[in-house]
Amino acid sequence: MPGDSRAATNAATVLRTVLEHGPVARGGIAGLCGLSPAAVSRQTTALLRGGLLRELPGPADGVGRPRIPLDLHTGAVGGPVAAGLHIGVPSSTFSLVDLRGRLLARRAFPHEGRPPAGLSGEIAVGLGRFLAEFDSGRPLLGVGAALGGWIRPDEGTVVHHPVLRWRHKPLGAELSAVLGLPVRVDNHARAVARAEILFGRPEARGSLVHLFIGNVVDAAFGIEGTVHQGPGSAAGDVAHLPVPGSAAPCACGRTGCLQATASDTALGAEAVRRGIVPDPSVPLLVDAAATGDPRADRLLRERARAVGRAAALLLDVFNPALMVVTELSSVLDEGYLEEIRTAATALSHVCDDPRRIVIPHAGPAVLPEAAATVLLSRVFRDPCRSDERARSHPSV
Ligand SMILES: [Zn+2]
Repeated sequence: MPGDSRAATNAATVLRTVLEHGPVARGGIAGLCGLSPAAVSRQTTALLRGGLLRELPGPADGVGRPRIPLDLHTGAVGGPVAAGLHIGVPSSTFSLVDLRGRLLARRAFPHEGRPPAGLSGEIAVGLGRFLAEFDSGRPLLGVGAALGGWIRPDEGTVVHHPVLRWRHKPLGAELSAVLGLPVRVDNHARAVARAEILFGRPEARGSLVHLFIGNVVDAAFGIEGTVHQGPGSAAGDVAHLPVPGSAAPCACGRTGCLQATASDTALGAEAVRRGIVPDPSVPLLVDAAATGDPRADRLLRERARAVGRAAALLLDVFNPALMVVTELSSVLDEGYLEEIRTAATALSHVCDDPRRIVIPHAGPAVLPEAAATVLLSRVFRDPCRSDERARSHPSV
């Protein structure tokens, strides 16, 4: 149905223009995005009716609707929200964000003592309680879930999560059955890339690579506003990328792999081995460095340099406008970002500008925001098609 798909494309164009430039009047939208005033008027009417846009108090000169400023509906009364679920290894995080990706509420959900087999059910119940507690009557668009490993967003399945040991798990359907809400699932490196494209620096819309360093290491790249997934949505597995200068033995049988060299799992184990912290916890190590333990600081700088060398390889392959690195110590302390930048630009053949290497725009809120963006990026791609309609027309 070409008419429908053109309307959907136009609606997405109008919504993204308001995201980027709002508040902006209808006439301004037409000038910015190149659609005709009639097309803009049609789409703004639909988006106002759908509750995604709202009219702000207009100019007092009585010139009428074309001059009334429109913005995304982020109002405390009636502005839609999206729920986010980030599933990490030691804990999950629940969140609520508005249409500009701004964090309204968050809560940690520790996994301690919960075996991976029943974990997703317990997470769903916990998230349901969180959503009930923070229900302010604003429309809830659905849930975006983000986690590490190989994820198929089209099926909502976890193909393989190496640490939680989930295989071919229909996570989206499981969560949706408990919560009674539309649920979208994606890999968390791609989720952060989507959040950077929608809500971050303008260069991210041109091209970006995102490198995620957690218990699982992942990467994602986006070109012209689209995050690449490839066949089977398998893009971004950098666990066994060889880090120059590393001899760390990896479970795959080789040495120097990124996962074995620089993941939180590897770092936590090394911190315990060196007697810096009693438990293999990167947050504890970061706290130790922040309170002046030079051994913790030295180990975090070693890791930052390893991350920088891996980033250099990705910079050379993709030459992105922006290289976004999510790594706990550098998100909290710019000194570690400088280590990453120095190591990356020293090794890269194509990038000598350290400012191209950045932390996520949301800082410590990166994961709660990115998880909800798994849902929001779909809303911005196709704002007029609700998931309810998709469910009632399974062939759509
Ligand atoms: Zn390996």
